[in-house]
Amino acid sequence: MVGGVDAKELRAPVFNIVHGSFVDGWGTRTTIFLKGCPLNCVWCCNPEGQKTYPELRFTQQDCNGCGKCVTVCPKQAIHMDPEKHLAVVDRSQCDDCLACTKICETSAMDVFGKYYSVKEIFDCIARDERYFGSDGGLTIGGGEATYFPDFTLELIRMCHDNYIHVALDTCGFIETENGRKCLEEADLVLFDLKGMDDAQHRINTGVSNQLIHKNLRYRDSLGKDIIVRVPIIPGYNASEENLNQTADFLKTLRSIRRVDLLPVHKYGMIKYEQLGMDYAIADVTAYSKEEEAHFVELFRKRGLNVQIGG
Ligand code: SF4
Ligand code: SF4
Repeated sequence: MVGGVDAKELRAPVFNIVHGSFVDGWGTRTTIFLKGCPLNCVWCCNPEGQKTYPELRFTQQDCNGCGKCVTVCPKQAIHMDPEKHLAVVDRSQCDDCLACTKICETSAMDVFGKYYSVKEIFDCIARDERYFGSDGGLTIGGGEATYFPDFTLELIRMCHDNYIHVALDTCGFIETENGRKCLEEADLVLFDLKGMDDAQHRINTGVSNQLIHKNLRYRDSLGKDIIVRVPIIPGYNASEENLNQTADFLKTLRSIRRVDLLPVHKYGMIKYEQLGMDYAIADVTAYSKEEEAHFVELFRKRGLNVQIGG
């Protein structure tokens, strides 16, 4: 029981479930993406993972101009574009009540995220067990995998009771006791490392990197598997100096099985549009293959197992 609730009935908002994934850990996996994140990274590719509750996803291209949503919005946040005859949402007025999603027949008004109980998620994972094999399993990502720590801890324990391998994909900014237990108990941790300079880290992500580094050292001290993921975003965190410092830091640890350097991509751009958010990295261009190879070498020459992507 947690706070008077059966732990298996704890609920958290999930915005995606991917079955049969070959990334986010060893083997073949099912990955769930939880909403809620303490960071606000400039290059975030899952902006629908930032808020802690289900929110409006508006796709104007799917609107047929019926105008029904305008009549149900209690905040008068929707109007019809007089020229295009399509709905327009003023996100500054919208409180994500989701009334418009219930009346829209084309799914132009739709939702990012849905609440699941631990048991519902577990049942969904258990159906996939046949393809996990000896090294696959569940990956819990987000958003931040430990944002709802009681939920995540119970899910990890249910999986372990059923011999399912669990990977935790974390930004490392974990302040709660049960969040740290998740860090301890996961079989594999995919640990994001977004910059060594604290001032720059605050600018890029909104938080200090001190707690993140402390939590990485703590997980490392347990001698359990870690894959470190380093986004390489031109103009933000991919200076030679930062990558050298990152590699020097990782060289001092003993449980790093692999370092994944993650090039910038723009798959998340459409979601910024659907959320009515500005897309800060629209003009950023990814590094060339030669530049990526140079970055790989910075880690390899320190004896680290490194790859592009992951
Ligand atoms: S209800 Fe849906 S289809 Fe109709 S105007 Fe609103 S968004 Fe467009
Ligand atoms: S979700 Fe936003 S736009 Fe839709 S009805 Fe509620 S307040 Fe209006």
